[in-house]
Amino acid sequence: MISSPFGMRGDEMHLGVDIMFRRRTPSDLAERFPRSTPNGSKMHFMPDAIPALAMSDGVVRFAGNTPRGWTVILDHPAGVTSYWTHLSALLLPEVKRGAYGPTVVAGQPLGLIGYDPKDPARLKHLHLELWPGGRRSRAFDPASWLTGLPVQVDPLAAMPATPPQPRVA
Ligand SMILES: [Zn+2]
Repeated sequence: MISSPFGMRGDEMHLGVDIMFRRRTPSDLAERFPRSTPNGSKMHFMPDAIPALAMSDGVVRFAGNTPRGWTVILDHPAGVTSYWTHLSALLLPEVKRGAYGPTVVAGQPLGLIGYDPKDPARLKHLHLELWPGGRRSRAFDPASWLTGLPVQVDPLAAMPATPPQPRVA
């Protein structure tokens, strides 16, 4: 679920959405991830080592480390580029800027969801942006695209049968 929406956040523009699991009540699973820890906020939670999965087929345009954590940029056939960051580890080979990397398929693990290194609270979440024509200056709200995707309410069900092995951490 979207834990922080696209748009102005204080005096900063949030160019994407933050994604976490939403707490359900009663839910003993959510209680394993207390609020005010890296694994939980008041309304949302994020266990360790949950993979971020490609939302559709694409080509890797960048996969590497940045000041915001490990980051993946994918070009999709629909003419939209997706940007995934705050990853704690990469599940793809590194792809430098300017290179055009391997293809990925929908559902393929890209990296493990971590936190923004600039966030003192270290709250784990996925940050996702969508850029039409590959231009970040034109980033739009991904919310309407995400509503068409299946919702995973149980984080353990989001884990592949075989835990993904980080290529780079
Ligand atoms: Zn964000």
